[in-house]
Amino acid sequence: MGYWAPFEQFSLEKAREKKETPLYTCAKLEEILRAYHVQFAPLEEKYRYIDSEMELDLEVAGCPLPVRMKVDLVLEDMELNKLAVFEFKFSTSLWRFVDDPNDQGVGYAIGASKKLGREVERIVYHISEVKVSSREGIVPAKKKGDPGRSIFKRSIIDLDPWDVEEWQEDLRMKQIELSQYELEEYWPKRTRSCSDWGGCVFAPLCTAPPQMREMFAQANFQVGGSDE
Ligand code: SF4
Repeated sequence: MGYWAPFEQFSLEKAREKKETPLYTCAKLEEILRAYHVQFAPLEEKYRYIDSEMELDLEVAGCPLPVRMKVDLVLEDMELNKLAVFEFKFSTSLWRFVDDPNDQGVGYAIGASKKLGREVERIVYHISEVKVSSREGIVPAKKKGDPGRSIFKRSIIDLDPWDVEEWQEDLRMKQIELSQYELEEYWPKRTRSCSDWGGCVFAPLCTAPPQMREMFAQANFQVGGSDE
């Protein structure tokens, strides 16, 4: 059997037994889609599609650089007449995810508002814990008799005008900070990010003595250029 099989022939259990990585990944994806459908499809009836994969450069007053972003999905809640950014987060360490305040979500809502010419007042996060141990969208409980919990959590954040104002001010301050690093030609380490996304590729540089870094960088990295 290849990586893809006709839907009716697909067996999640067989994929698990075989432990073939791509097939296993497909099996997990199927589990995620089914779990999403079971849990949220009835709730989606009240939404209508507005736009998706919106790529944009958001200009903010007082910020020298635009913010480049791609907004996954914007839907309209037809009962409330409200636009919402839908965001999907998948991770094995979701306990680290903070939905409010969330820099990315607020930025997406502001960017989408500007592009659509209409205010996006809500962010709907779908936070999914991708677990090896989950079955049919349920993470088994540690205690016997406990039914376990869904791999999905939906979290709805309604934005106030002050969220939008504060995000823009935060961004302005962040850009001032960055220009200062550029001016001084000194970039402090951000060690909270070192282990994210499977580990930062620059870790060998950061742990090398300063006098070795240039040589180490020349030998191991290629300097990227712009397409322009
Ligand atoms: S290893 Fe990566 S994330 Fe960590 S401080 Fe160095 S550059 Fe930053």
